[in-house]
Amino acid sequence: MQSPTHNSLLGLTLQELTELVLKQNQPAYRAQQLFDALYRQRAEQLNHIFTLPREYRAQLGEQGWGVGLPRITRKFESRDGTVRYLVEMADGETVETVWMPEGDDGESGDGSEAGDEIESGMAAARRRATICVSSQVGCAVNCRFCLTALLGVKRNLEAGEIVGQVVAVLREQKVEPPTQRINLVFMGMGEPFLNYENFMKAVRLLVDGVGIPASRMTVSTAGIVPRIHDFGREAVRPKLAISLNGSNDELRSAVMPLNRKWNLSDLMQAAREFPLRARERLTFEYVLLAGVNDAPEQAREVSELVRGMRAKVNLIALNPGPELPYQTPEQERVLHFQRILVASGIPAFIRRPRGRDIFAACGQLKRTIDVAPGEVEDSG
Ligand code: SAH
Repeated sequence: MQSPTHNSLLGLTLQELTELVLKQNQPAYRAQQLFDALYRQRAEQLNHIFTLPREYRAQLGEQGWGVGLPRITRKFESRDGTVRYLVEMADGETVETVWMPEGDDGESGDGSEAGDEIESGMAAARRRATICVSSQVGCAVNCRFCLTALLGVKRNLEAGEIVGQVVAVLREQKVEPPTQRINLVFMGMGEPFLNYENFMKAVRLLVDGVGIPASRMTVSTAGIVPRIHDFGREAVRPKLAISLNGSNDELRSAVMPLNRKWNLSDLMQAAREFPLRARERLTFEYVLLAGVNDAPEQAREVSELVRGMRAKVNLIALNPGPELPYQTPEQERVLHFQRILVASGIPAFIRRPRGRDIFAACGQLKRTIDVAPGEVEDSG
């Protein structure tokens, strides 16, 4: 249990923890002990951090400090193994975090080879899973095909609340370290590039603290162009995915009104200038909406946009929602769109929907307080 009056330790860097312990007249190595306990051992309470003397744990508590681990209050399990978690922050706000066992058909994009896998069975599969993380409570970007958009934006998540989702889910799934085979996608609720500082701080804590390599992380943006430039200058950063979803300005503005602010020529220029590392590829995501952006002509426009770039296109057939004004295209239409891209030399993949039966698939995250199918536990 956490009390809202707590100052959260989760979210502090080693440097910040060092400043804290020194101010409390503790030896500097206490900071490393705290850092390991928070991010590696995933302590839930101060009282469980046995590397610290009891008196110091009490002192921290008296001064209002707590771990600040978000609480999983609900979970929904899909037939395909995907689990959607409702995660509650100290102020009672909730976001969703999704666990997808055994990666996501290469969407994890980790480029790993099977050769180094001696392990088999459950433990290995668990460590290869993908966690889809939220960056904001709700979202301010008004994409017409996305359910999270209907919530509006409540607030940004703190770095500790972003890391906390991962820590809470790793705990819940009993994933033993090492965690370097876990993939993270920042593709949950919210627009990470509209909460840029907290998102990047979370990335650094996930790398240094939790031990997940940045090369196993992908962040998806709706196209906040100035932040794409900033992101390219980061020393440590996830891979970049850009939500395209329209093949020309008229179409893209209709489905993603933010295209009026940063249009396709701004966006594609930022994408072309983005400094890729060796063997790294950009990802463009393209949600196919029946009769809107899924015609062969639009596939050709997409291939013109992406031509010459070190990039791939992930095609996502719309995950429908009752409040959405669009339909999911027929599979044949999706395949045809893919064939046109591939024929013009663009790697294009069809993304398999995960956890559709529990509304955990892309764009379906919208806080569900009503009972939804697949609910297996309510500890809240
Ligand atoms: N705000 C970020 C990340 C969250 S959305 C972004 O926009 O990229 C992650 C991906 O899901 C995006 O590519 C988005 O276009 C896609 N998506 C949103 N709603 C969807 C829906 N109903 N069906 C399929 N994909 C959807």
